[in-house]
Amino acid sequence: MGISDAIGAHVGSFWALEIASLAWFPSLLFFFWVVEKIRPFVRQGPRPNATDVKYWLLNPGLELMTRTASAFVMLSLAALIGVRAKLGIWHGFGPVMKQPHWLILVEMVLLLELTAYWSHRLCHTVPWLWRFHAIHHSAKRLNWLSAARFHPVNQLFTRVSNMLPLFCLGFPIDDAMKLFPFVAFSALLAHANLNLRFGPFSALLVGPVYHRFHHTLSGEGGNKNFAGFCPLFDWIFGTYYMPAEDPGALGVDGEDVPDDVLEQFAYPFRSETESAPEEELHQATALPSRPSW
Ligand SMILES: [Zn+2]
Ligand SMILES: [Zn+2]
Repeated sequence: MGISDAIGAHVGSFWALEIASLAWFPSLLFFFWVVEKIRPFVRQGPRPNATDVKYWLLNPGLELMTRTASAFVMLSLAALIGVRAKLGIWHGFGPVMKQPHWLILVEMVLLLELTAYWSHRLCHTVPWLWRFHAIHHSAKRLNWLSAARFHPVNQLFTRVSNMLPLFCLGFPIDDAMKLFPFVAFSALLAHANLNLRFGPFSALLVGPVYHRFHHTLSGEGGNKNFAGFCPLFDWIFGTYYMPAEDPGALGVDGEDVPDDVLEQFAYPFRSETESAPEEELHQATALPSRPSW
């Protein structure tokens, strides 16, 4: 049994899930179209953002690429600590699997929240990672379609850093993948153009206003709220931000991220002087080139 069989097993199981979730796309389209009309955060025109639509069209191909690459990277890194690739590797192994199933699930959810929190926070604090993550933050108009706007390298980094600790500890990655529909729906809801704070549950669930604060410029309180599903780790690490007033302007401070998808793919590989016109550079000396917190 080689590394390619183990990669195939992982990508195959994900692909079945991806195809099943694509069947839900028309329902999601209808659901968000209705709720964003009923309670919008800001009134937006009927035309969707062309860049966001292109990301959705490219998404299945990009997912296939990043899943394959992340499985390869995970197996290669795991081999360094003695975890060998075999077909059943994604079903878990070692002492972790001797625990009751419910406990494994609880530990996986908590661990995934923790790794997702720190991988996202690193994307904001490590300069070269921020160059990739800035693509996601380049959306100046936020709605559920914005959730797919990610550079493939950002996706690859997030997947590997989220999953690798679970994988090396022996958690069943295939079971973690079954959480994908919930995680995906939570991400779509978080980006929705909805004036929704969840009332007394706003400290427990990531929602549209909570994540909108994350997308604001640093001077508007942005660069907080890194959680993906439950803000628990924002509380613990001091980045929870949910004031009574509304979130302000969205976007990226002092950087000129292009609108075109292909140019966005190339953007992180360009030098900083190349990617900012002269007057932007002048402005960037007064403003931080990335959000500070
Ligand atoms: Zn972010
Ligand atoms: Zn976002």
